[in-house]
Amino acid sequence: MSNNKYKILIVEDEANIRSLLSALLEANGYRALEADCCSGAELMYFSHVPDLVILDLGLPDKDGSLLLKKIRERDLTPIIVLSARSDEDEKVKMLDLGANDYVTKPFGTAELLARVRSSLRDHRKISGGGSTVAVFSNGPLEIRYDSRRVFVKGKEISLTQIEYNILSFLSENVGKVMTYSAIIKSIWREYPDEGNIKRLQVNMANIRKKFGTMPGEESFIVNELGIGYRLREDAN
Ligand code: CA
Repeated sequence: MSNNKYKILIVEDEANIRSLLSALLEANGYRALEADCCSGAELMYFSHVPDLVILDLGLPDKDGSLLLKKIRERDLTPIIVLSARSDEDEKVKMLDLGANDYVTKPFGTAELLARVRSSLRDHRKISGGGSTVAVFSNGPLEIRYDSRRVFVKGKEISLTQIEYNILSFLSENVGKVMTYSAIIKSIWREYPDEGNIKRLQVNMANIRKKFGTMPGEESFIVNELGIGYRLREDAN
């Protein structure tokens, strides 16, 4: 059981293509979110924080490239542009705006899935400091990145999506202190303020609780008071 599937937002106004994509992604272990216009997609994007966006350009309310720009003003979430427009200039323009990849309709499902995997992988390399290993293992702690599952002494720990993302981020920077600001930017894509620092602390307390750590006790995760958190390199 895993509630940590990658979330993919599909922005496409043609219902048949949207549901085909949704079914394809769900069948391949992703969680699909759907939007049929630019403004709906924007709301969905900022409330669900998906891991990847598949973006059609010809949308009924606004051009998809406007959403692309808006997302890029904030973060580097992978975006695959999907469009019937096949000319080279359009592709270059979208890539210049920050799209990670470009798929022209009609597309093959195997090709699209390969592009999705590749974009997620590249993004992990960028945000994760080059780590490409499938499993993180440190003493009794094991994180399986491909299935987004966490084990302590072989027993699975059920984490929420946010808790998993925090732990995964710390593990990719194991041994280093990650500031509140760095964690908040990576997880919520927000600038740190009192509210999201509190949210981070609550999530961190829950992670420690799920690991069975009592307050004040040494944990895998060291709380560097007033600065941030560090996943210990020498967990035992
Ligand atoms: Ca369209």
